[in-house]
Amino acid sequence: MFDVNEIRKDFPILDRKVNGKPLVYLDNAATSQTPRQVIDVIVEYYQNYNANIHRGVHALSQEATDKYEQARIKIQKHFNAAKAHEIIFTSGTTHSINIVANGFSSLLKKGDEVLVSAMEHHSNIVPWQMLCERTGGLLKVIPMNQDGELLMDEYDKLLSDKTKLVFCNHISNALGTINPIEEIIEKAHGVGAAVLIDGAQAAPHIVADVQALDVDFYTISAHKVCGPTGAGMLYGKEELLTKLPPYQGGGEMIAEVTFEKTSYADLPHKFEAGTPNICGGIAFGAALDYMNSIGFDDIAKYEHELLEYATQKLLEIDKLKIYGTAKDKTSVISFNIEGVHPYDIGSILDKLGIAVRTGHHCAQPIMDFFNIPGTVRASFCFYNTKEEVDVLVEGVKRAKNMLL
Ligand code: PMP
Repeated sequence: MFDVNEIRKDFPILDRKVNGKPLVYLDNAATSQTPRQVIDVIVEYYQNYNANIHRGVHALSQEATDKYEQARIKIQKHFNAAKAHEIIFTSGTTHSINIVANGFSSLLKKGDEVLVSAMEHHSNIVPWQMLCERTGGLLKVIPMNQDGELLMDEYDKLLSDKTKLVFCNHISNALGTINPIEEIIEKAHGVGAAVLIDGAQAAPHIVADVQALDVDFYTISAHKVCGPTGAGMLYGKEELLTKLPPYQGGGEMIAEVTFEKTSYADLPHKFEAGTPNICGGIAFGAALDYMNSIGFDDIAKYEHELLEYATQKLLEIDKLKIYGTAKDKTSVISFNIEGVHPYDIGSILDKLGIAVRTGHHCAQPIMDFFNIPGTVRASFCFYNTKEEVDVLVEGVKRAKNMLL
């Protein structure tokens, strides 16, 4: 039974005050808060079995290795990957995307085309631009409409036998749009292109089944799903990961090293050079356990109620405009008040204890598309309440009165 008041007790940070006011944390798309179940796992790691993994014969090292590999299997099961070694531990989505972009340097040829959507986070634009600079590939953009929905007819026109890669986020961090990734993947495969879906914003709301989607690469960051920062995942199909060269060289990723030649370790270690974020990986697994204990169906249903309630209340404010009005969207509201800079609204909300994001949200092309400097973004998580929405709405009204 979903009970938000019980759930809130799991998050110690929600009890704190900011500027003398109870914290209203609405910056969940940037990072989610951490429940004590995950904090306990982090504390237990450092108190009981902190050790380097995969190399020690001693008990602590083996315990840490077991827990780390168990976390990999939890992640594999959560995303229904066929094999545990298709899950590569990374420091987060940005790292995951760079592994693939770097790997394709040796596979992409001059004139090959790479498609990205118009609503990408910079981390899903810049690595591909760098890839195209290195290889002579061409970056093309799938456009969107004023509601923040991709123009699928235009996508059809862009696809050709020159298309080698397609990149798209599952859910936009700036607008909340849920993209039709099933169709995107199927059509890309129709022309023989590989697809990377950036699941950073989807993971807290939707469970992606990578086999059912038939996606080639899927990326997420643990800190978006109630886990720690500095941990994340790259899922890749075994066949493709095997083809890609390693991203970084170092310890742990080798089979044999001589000064003449080095052979690389098998998956997943080929992509996991150096000592990883061991505690972070274990806590990532614990975070998925926590989210699953609440249940993604209940999470999605509750967050949708919050989204509808907040949208309706905010739209009652005169001169307030919401960016991102797609039919399929998650609990993110990006808005502006005509004549007011988003940063000024954010600063006043902060004084009232309300945490929102202001600016371009690492998605400058979206802001250019709407011809605005940025937005105020309120993003809701399953531990937020309707009362907090009311506090936000009153805060925005107050900011508007002060600034206009
Ligand atoms: N893609 C999207 C859609 C995101 O929202 C984010 C985080 N804001 C990223 C990529 C980058 O994630 P990270 O900073 O954890 O690597």
